[in-house]
Amino acid sequence: MGRTLRLARKPAKTSLMPLHIHDTLRREKRLFEPRDPNRVTLYVCGPTVYDYAHIGNARPPVVFDVLVRLLRRTYGADKVIYARNVTDVDDKINQKAAKEGVPIGQVTARYEAAYLADMGLLNVSPPDLAPHVTDYIPAIVDQIQAIVDAGCAYAAEGHVLFDVSSYPSYGALSGRNLDDMIAGARVEVAPYKKNPHDFVLWKPSKDGEPSWPSPWGDGRPGWHIECSAMIEQTLGLPIDIHGGGIDLVFPHHENEIAQGVCAHGHAHGDRAHDEYARYWMHNGFLTVDAEKMSKSIGNVLLLHDLVQAMPGEVVRWALLSAHYRQPLDWNQALLDQSRKSLDRLYGALHRSAAVPAADLDPPADFLKSIEDDLNTPGAMAALFALSSEIERAMTAGDLDAVAQAKGRLVACADILGVLQSDPGAWLEGEVSDALRVEVEALLEQRAAARAAKDWPEADRIRDRLNELNVVVMDGPTGATWRAKG
Ligand code: AMP
Ligand code: ZN
Repeated sequence: MGRTLRLARKPAKTSLMPLHIHDTLRREKRLFEPRDPNRVTLYVCGPTVYDYAHIGNARPPVVFDVLVRLLRRTYGADKVIYARNVTDVDDKINQKAAKEGVPIGQVTARYEAAYLADMGLLNVSPPDLAPHVTDYIPAIVDQIQAIVDAGCAYAAEGHVLFDVSSYPSYGALSGRNLDDMIAGARVEVAPYKKNPHDFVLWKPSKDGEPSWPSPWGDGRPGWHIECSAMIEQTLGLPIDIHGGGIDLVFPHHENEIAQGVCAHGHAHGDRAHDEYARYWMHNGFLTVDAEKMSKSIGNVLLLHDLVQAMPGEVVRWALLSAHYRQPLDWNQALLDQSRKSLDRLYGALHRSAAVPAADLDPPADFLKSIEDDLNTPGAMAALFALSSEIERAMTAGDLDAVAQAKGRLVACADILGVLQSDPGAWLEGEVSDALRVEVEALLEQRAAARAAKDWPEADRIRDRLNELNVVVMDGPTGATWRAKG
């Protein structure tokens, strides 16, 4: 390009619009203030590794990955500690291992490895900590003992049960009232329970199932206590943010709070729940073609299959294209639109490939959206505006403006975790060398035909490109193409 580019200097960090997040417990959007800005802590309930994750399971890790990227940018990469557990003790794991005649560790290792590989394809950064239940059994037993000692749990027939009547704030997170719950209870009541809503902290294992020693007999922990014990062990209480899908509000997270608070004798504190987690965030549910995913309908889409069939970024973009608290319907139109959106952004990067991006912050409109309770659809609009700016500046030959718009686009994309591929490779997709040579020759012929106003020839070439299943995108500075996905 014959001239040296003057890179824009990165301006001093302007004061960011402070992050607000919707707190499920207080039922309002609140300014996020970490307990210690030098140690921001976040815990998200992770997968139970007995099978491949479905696409709904991928929504929390992707949403909270955006949050973590934003927090790291705001507080510093080394100031944020993100824990996402792996549930490797569970009835479904036992069933699968028994069916296959293998130890549970073989089942959990297989599906955890697949989960992590698929997360990698979605550009989900690994969490700082990935505690496994099997590594924390003694800590779980200690926490159960502390709850028993505090008078909030009782042992009965080899089980230990949390006594919900001992914790006056039980129901605060989910907005349920214990009396109403008892009145409306249709649960089958185990004879050893004092109250139908008392839940299991420890239970005996069946013959042949994995079990660990405890003061109440050999057995295994309940699901809820695993998370509260691992949170305390890995991050310490209170944590700043606890996240998960909306279905976890009750009973999982309600029970986590009760356990975490009561283990420290705070059952009767006024705002006892503050001792556990300061902000609660929950993502909405994903449906498939407007239906709940279910094995009986046969519409369960596995993440593992989706990331084989299309680029992980298309899946990620689709997952982020609705606000995280809203329901999201997964359908072909969503995927087509996501692919098209990414093609457009990659197209701008590709056409400006010769111009290095300036080192800049994201623009104010992007930050305003993303810091407003992770408004990803609003944030995406800012990316389109920047790609248009790149195209305009390319046409005008204003390379400084290209470098700046590109720098801002890259900064936004890094927070959303998209545009992480090479633009040329993205646009051409996985195509054979033979196809690449033919398409590029055709595009050259087409440019010549158009320049010569030979429209029949240009049409013939277009038809041939269609036959080759290639999409051509004309931009102000030339055409780019990709194989139809
Ligand atoms: P599970 O393995 O069932 O415990 O789920 C792992 C995570 O995925 C939890 O945070 C769930 O709340 C979440 N989740 C499960 N199904 C869906 C869905 N259809 N849409 C969104 N999130 C979901
Ligand atoms: Zn959990």
